Amino acid sequence: MRYSGWQVFRQGLTGNRGWQPAWREPEPRRDYDTVIIGGGGHGLSTAYYLAKNHGITDVAVLERGLIGQGNVGRNTTIVRANYFLPGNQEFYSHSLKLWEGLEAELNYNVMHSQRGLINLFHSDGQRDAFARRGNAMHFQGDDAILLDREGVRRHLPYLDFEQTRFPIYGGLLHPRGGTARHDAVAWGYARGADRQGVDLIQHCEVTGIDIRDGRVTGVQTTRGPIRARRVGIVVAGRSGQVAAMAGMRLPIESHILQAFVTEGLKPLIHHVVSFGMGHFYISQSDKGGLVFGGDLDFYASYAARGNLPMVEHVMEAGMALMPMIGRARVLRSWGGIMDMTPDGSPIIDRTPVEGLFLDAGWNYGGFKAVPASGWCMAHLMATGESHPVARRFRLDRFRTGHVIDEEGTGSQHNLH
Ligand SMILES: Cc1cc2nc3c(=O)[nH]c(=O)nc-3n(C[C@H](O)[C@H](O)[C@H](O)COP(=O)(O)OP(=O)(O)OC[C@H]3O[C@@H](n4cnc5c(N)ncnc54)[C@H](O)[C@@H]3O)c2cc1C
Repeated sequence: MRYSGWQVFRQGLTGNRGWQPAWREPEPRRDYDTVIIGGGGHGLSTAYYLAKNHGITDVAVLERGLIGQGNVGRNTTIVRANYFLPGNQEFYSHSLKLWEGLEAELNYNVMHSQRGLINLFHSDGQRDAFARRGNAMHFQGDDAILLDREGVRRHLPYLDFEQTRFPIYGGLLHPRGGTARHDAVAWGYARGADRQGVDLIQHCEVTGIDIRDGRVTGVQTTRGPIRARRVGIVVAGRSGQVAAMAGMRLPIESHILQAFVTEGLKPLIHHVVSFGMGHFYISQSDKGGLVFGGDLDFYASYAARGNLPMVEHVMEAGMALMPMIGRARVLRSWGGIMDMTPDGSPIIDRTPVEGLFLDAGWNYGGFKAVPASGWCMAHLMATGESHPVARRFRLDRFRTGHVIDEEGTGSQHNLH
């Protein structure tokens, strides 16, 4: 069924009884050409573009839980292309372009809202760094506007401009940055993949990876063994665990990241705003809730829930930036599992096992990467070659030293 205004009108007249499920619930077959492990944003977009761009439809996506319940439905929904280093720049630029056509492409309302992202700076040194970043974004063909203090005040009059501890010097505005509804992105790609014949198998956990003579031959699952010629590991925070099934030890640590949402308020914050003196970023959802987050909980864990010291830290940063936020009541908070690489950049690459591919290491930023990650992973799995915009996301860069140290934090996982 194609979604349209006419369909909404028609279904409204007939009691909304004609809507069909967005995707099928097939039983897993014993044999597929390609298996994708993980039904998050990246796994689903990979399956979608395998079918759409490469005509490979004999594909199963194996998801141990429900589609949309992983990090793809837990993030703070920020979409941007404001990276500084070659490697990341061209990749995220490509992703943003895909975002801009995504709703038409998927025939699904993912509520992509380019409301503008403002990164604040609080010192001369930070201003220089953001000016360089803005220039790098221009060179890449993306948009950036350097704002002085008064420029920021015009956009964000509610910030605390009087405080002396973290004075606001200005901000870098990325007008095409914004947000999207996170779980709708998973549902849209799921529906799109399903319509092209991909089997989405929920409640099917992969428990082993079968390898013979250095070649992948299939996977073991809680619903029986499945043979496959190609297998993609696309499991975000669980990458280390699943790769271990193929005997690999990845340069990845899994950490918790928390997010928060307040009660619904009248429209108040019209951009995505990011604090330069602490890890704090905020936007307002279409329902009115203030959605915000901060830093990692600083220890490795697979628990998708956070702890109070980081809650306190995030609230303090919010209060320092916009004291009015103290009047809002927090409705709920949650956590997700981040797959952190030593250089803060991702991996889309072959593995030493023939036919086994890896898409991982998305750190804090994998939601905005969903379209391009799927596009490039599908290209890699279909052709055996890295896509040009993802060619630097190599697994062996941590051995060869060709890292993309976007965050400038080196090998300290807990600083990313
Ligand atoms: C609080 C928070 C805020 C964030 N904010 C942002 C943001 O504002 N902008 C941004 O760009 N990014 C953000 N991120 C990061 C982003 O959400 C992730 O990088 C991205 O969603 C990860 O990729 P995914 O969607 O494929 O992951 P997931 O949705 O986690 O998908 C992986 C799937 O693999 C499944 N799986 C795992 N093991 C197995 C197995 N053995 N067998 C079968 N299936 C398995 C899991 O159940 C899961 O559904 C945030 C993350 C969090 C937690």
